[in-house]
Amino acid sequence: MNKVLVTGGAGYIGSHACKVLRDAGYIPVTFDNLSTGWEDAVKFGPFHRGDLLNRADIDAAFLEHTPTAVMHFAAFSQVGEAMSNPGKYWRNNFGGGLNLIEATIAHECRNFVFSSTCATYGDQDGVELDEHCPQQPQNAYGASKRAIEDMLADFSASDDLNYVIFRYFNVAGADPDGEIGEFHQPETHLVPIILDAVADKRDGITVFGGDYDTPDGTCIRDYVHVMDLVDAHVSGLKWLEERKGNRVFNLGTGSGFSVREVIDHARVVTNRDVPWKIGPRRSGDCTKLVSGSRRATEELGWEPRLSTLEEMIRDAWRWHQTGHYEK
Ligand code: UDP
Repeated sequence: MNKVLVTGGAGYIGSHACKVLRDAGYIPVTFDNLSTGWEDAVKFGPFHRGDLLNRADIDAAFLEHTPTAVMHFAAFSQVGEAMSNPGKYWRNNFGGGLNLIEATIAHECRNFVFSSTCATYGDQDGVELDEHCPQQPQNAYGASKRAIEDMLADFSASDDLNYVIFRYFNVAGADPDGEIGEFHQPETHLVPIILDAVADKRDGITVFGGDYDTPDGTCIRDYVHVMDLVDAHVSGLKWLEERKGNRVFNLGTGSGFSVREVIDHARVVTNRDVPWKIGPRRSGDCTKLVSGSRRATEELGWEPRLSTLEEMIRDAWRWHQTGHYEK
């Protein structure tokens, strides 16, 4: 069975990717430094603890496992923190990405799947964002991801490396089987914060800005179920194995929901009150990020199956009530 080196495999999206890779007949090798991930989430293949900033750690993982592909999820990903501490984002995301790409080439591994983001687009007057839109990130998180996209293009031109880049919109939900889910410490993402508020683990939720140019004044995002998202990764990997070249795909549903709408759906799904108040804007936030994802459908046959707000919140809520990880 082919092995796939999954950086960030102990994190939210990476752990779900490991599960679908295992189910698709691969051995997912988690490479993670556990800075934000959880060893409890590594359930579907071997664990190699290491740091992308240490090239020797990456080399050791390649030598031990000889993976035939890399899926690169490991990164810091909080917009607010990226604004206050851009150096952390450039050092880790950019530096770690460069080490990983160079190691992948040095160990003659040819297939690279990269987890990028709609934050590389930035605000563009509310237009549907497809893969042709210019990339003009508004924070160091998006900028560091775009830099790795550029790096992949350069290395692929000079070396025998093929890549698929997925630009995610907002990922939510959890494994419907309840084996793994989303758990950040501290939590900054909208859906788990709402669920913490529902479960009285926090006083309520502060909505970051109520004066955006949107129908209800709160930011609009395009939410995609984590299982749909990782399914696309397996399709992307198979596409690479057929040596089809290099390609960028957006992953979203094409439907936008405001923060207020997400809160309203959570109230219905959980049948509980969600205390909220409007606070100041969070710097670095875009007004509206909604995808055009037809390319993934047309070329990979990707169809989001679980990406309704109800389904995402229901799966996240199930996990929230039963699952957690411990250090
Ligand atoms: N958000 C909010 N309050 C919170 C957390 C998030 O109003 O406590 C908003 C945030 O401003 C954005 C949306 O929810 O408009 C999604 O934010 P999240 O951090 O989940 O993902 P991001 O869009 O930054 O990738």
